[in-house]
Amino acid sequence: MRRTKIIATLGPVTSSPAALERLILLGVNIFRFNMSHAPHDWVRTVAKSIREISARHGLEVGLLLDTQGPAIRTGVVAKTYDLQIDDWVSFTVKGQPGTVQITVDANYPYLVEDIAVGSTVIVDNGNLRLQAIEKRENELVCKVLTPGPLGSRRHINLPGVDVKLPALTEKDYADVELAFECDMDFIAMSFVRRAADIDLLREKIKEKKSAIRIVAKIEDQMAVRNIEEIIAACDGLMIARGDLGIEVPYEELPIIQRRAINLCLAAIKPVIVATHLLESMITNPSPTRAEITDIANAVFEHSDAIMLSGETTTGKYPFECVEIMDRIAARIETGKTVGTYVNPIQPKTTRERINAATAYLANESKSVGICVYTHTGTKARFIAGLRPQTAPIYAFTPSMTVCRSLSLHFGIRAHLIVPSEDPNETLLQMISILREKGYATKGDSIVVVSDLVAGRETLHAIHVHEIK
Ligand code: PEP
Repeated sequence: MRRTKIIATLGPVTSSPAALERLILLGVNIFRFNMSHAPHDWVRTVAKSIREISARHGLEVGLLLDTQGPAIRTGVVAKTYDLQIDDWVSFTVKGQPGTVQITVDANYPYLVEDIAVGSTVIVDNGNLRLQAIEKRENELVCKVLTPGPLGSRRHINLPGVDVKLPALTEKDYADVELAFECDMDFIAMSFVRRAADIDLLREKIKEKKSAIRIVAKIEDQMAVRNIEEIIAACDGLMIARGDLGIEVPYEELPIIQRRAINLCLAAIKPVIVATHLLESMITNPSPTRAEITDIANAVFEHSDAIMLSGETTTGKYPFECVEIMDRIAARIETGKTVGTYVNPIQPKTTRERINAATAYLANESKSVGICVYTHTGTKARFIAGLRPQTAPIYAFTPSMTVCRSLSLHFGIRAHLIVPSEDPNETLLQMISILREKGYATKGDSIVVVSDLVAGRETLHAIHVHEIK
């Protein structure tokens, strides 16, 4: 069983019930709705369809809504410009008519103020690079460095600039409401720059009495500088390499990825490696050797999840991408090269020590799994954070919300259970589900963490259970 989770972004090629069913059966753990593109009615229909299909198969998957965030974009142009090296382009703000022949509006009022002459303006995910050469009233004149087409509503990156846009835009607030309405499990917050950005969303979630979990996307230099406080404030982190790879020098990207993963491992927060893992498969039937190695590297680094974007939204081979990710991740996890993971976590409470002892016992007794009863998911998340060497974590919970929220965490397979009054009965029920599902058979040993009743006392216990 693969333990690294797969997230698939949905789009036109994957939103039919047949496609969703195929993806669920191929092992997708979380579906992502990218609100930079997804219309609300489409999200409602697809989310409902996913819930129906997963209930039919007894395979609960997570739903993640990814906000557009405070992105800077060009306005609408009457026709696409074919920019050549050294062409002059004027970016105007506040409705100012441009004084240069090629003029494009930008939705960021501080563009002229914030960009120093000489700095780089990156448009359309790095396809176009320009250099600011002159400031005029409400107008930034730039010279084209890298040629290419410039169309409407293209994304503008301003590396190193502390952009003065609200962390959640009006559109984001409307999209967040949709996440509540569709009972989603995660909101990925784009362009998080500091912990206070996350607090804004946390307030909204509290107001709604929702248990939806926040994934902070790190995508610029400010987020990298504040990464520790961001990790402390969020419920999970996404290394959004698409934008991050534009905002920081290329050679810094792998260093940031590794550091972010290590910080998340130490903080017991799940971490997603996102974007371009199988980019060439948007058009090609097989991955490049570099992509195979990139997926393997994310697994070697012990990330919780790997994510597909364009590959599964508009790509020609969405199902093959999931199959290939699944094969690579599963193989790398079982290979000796992953090495013995020495986790940096220092358990502080008795419960945490019990969790640590559980992982130790699973490693030492070569158990086929860890079986854990968890009300809030905390126990299962902690054990997953310790990265048991080979044992999957079978989490049993009475809450559907908790069950789905565990879809993001390394190695956890969560199941819904109606617990009995008697914890001993619940334990037997869990073991029988493991047998039914084929996770354990006669002679296997499983490490079980549960409450046990001894006389009048309820004990927090771990034991190694041999399947009869
Ligand atoms: C990214 O930039 O890598 C990313 C995942 O964000 P988005 O797809 O929303 O640009």
